[in-house]
Amino acid sequence: AIAKLIEAATPVEQWPAEWFEINNHIHRSDLLLKESFTPGAALHAVEAGGADAALEKIRFSDLRGRGGAGFSTAQKWQFCREAAGDTRYVICNADEGEPGTFKDRVLLTSYADAVFEGMALCGRIIGARQGYIYLRAEYRYLLDRLENRLAERREAGLLGEKILGIEGFDFDIEIVVGAGAYICGEESALIESLEEKPGNPRIRPPFPVTHGYMGKPTVVNNVETLAAAAAIVLHGERWFRGAGTWQSRGTKILSVSGDCARPGIYEYPFGVSINDILKDCGAVQVQAVQVGGPSGRLVDPSHFDHHIAFEDLATGGSLMIFHHSRNLLEVIRNFTCFFTHESCGFCTPCRVGTALLKNGMDKVASGHGTAHDLDELKATAALVSRRSHCGLGMTAPNPIRDGLKYFPELFEARLLHQEMEPEFNLDASLE
Ligand code: NAD
Ligand code: SF4
Repeated sequence: AIAKLIEAATPVEQWPAEWFEINNHIHRSDLLLKESFTPGAALHAVEAGGADAALEKIRFSDLRGRGGAGFSTAQKWQFCREAAGDTRYVICNADEGEPGTFKDRVLLTSYADAVFEGMALCGRIIGARQGYIYLRAEYRYLLDRLENRLAERREAGLLGEKILGIEGFDFDIEIVVGAGAYICGEESALIESLEEKPGNPRIRPPFPVTHGYMGKPTVVNNVETLAAAAAIVLHGERWFRGAGTWQSRGTKILSVSGDCARPGIYEYPFGVSINDILKDCGAVQVQAVQVGGPSGRLVDPSHFDHHIAFEDLATGGSLMIFHHSRNLLEVIRNFTCFFTHESCGFCTPCRVGTALLKNGMDKVASGHGTAHDLDELKATAALVSRRSHCGLGMTAPNPIRDGLKYFPELFEARLLHQEMEPEFNLDASLE
């Protein structure tokens, strides 16, 4: 039925909600997803100890950004708090556009209060009165539900002016729906888009903590990071530090999809191995796993004893599983097409380079490539990842690079076995 909707070119906003929620089933909850969240509980906890103590809790918890990069959350909030100026903002990055990633969708569906409260407590700590949720265009179907929840919170004194009746504790949240561009998940492009400009990434530094929305100090955090911050303030840093590895504390929520018996949401302590996840979700005869979406890593079975952690395999939150029977070369070609399509066109290495990568993959996959084309693909991939302006271009060649590294036989099997005679021999024509 989804294929029919796509075929009929039905705008994604008109797809029924159940298509999006198809994989929302939570199979495993270790920490965050295990706790029920009483609206207001984290805000009461902040006020009981004070904003400084709440920031210290976040610091001692070692919470790192769940979007994928793993920057220290306390450090980010501290930088923003100390930045010059009176006006500050909190932005929740809900532009979950990485293919195969849908864990933020589940948080916004079932744990929205924890996310809202994470934003409000960040506002309290850094001194912001306004927050924005930048919602992925394809998640528009969640908008009414989230707006209603925000209205209920205002009614209950948990949002708006004098939160919990406290003079000076003012914080409100507005939801802004994106326009469907993958690049707007990059924080500075997201900010440009919020400012109603084309979503082109800015040069960083300066980072948003000092020069963010409207040029003001701004914290941009992933949905999961904000929900975790609220839970830490509520349950304490020890509760959080009890899970995970020493460099990656707490848990990671993963969207698991592809060739497995039980796709859906899994929350694991950091340090879980790929093998354990494959066992839990019922995946057999696995050819490859894409960790962290197409911008992440495509790994072969020799990596399945590696661990999900910032110090090993870091991920924004997705695992896509490919059975032996899958045409992995076609998967890689598809991912490359995705990046070519989503390149914002702002810088030449990415705009031209991703198109060259796509052309190269088309040629090889159609059986017209030679060994020279593989060399060209390698050289272009290196150039695009080194010279691009933002993360999209830097990571766009990853599927090809990992493919050539771990699955070279797939490329080689499609090459022309004999070098073609050149159609036009320049040297001969000059003689
Ligand atoms: P980054 O390392 O440049 O920055 C991470 C965060 O830390 C940003 O908020 C940035 O502002 C802040 N930061 C970094 N250095 C700072 C400094 N010196 N001072 C103040 N703040 C600082 O990473 P990025 O380019 O923002 O994000 C890339 C990550 O996004 C990748 O790791 C990738 O896994 C992930 N990603 C996630 C998705 C998704 O759907 N969740 C999609 C694509 C990519
Ligand atoms: Fe745009 Fe790509 Fe350049 Fe990023 S790397 S600014 S997405 S063209």
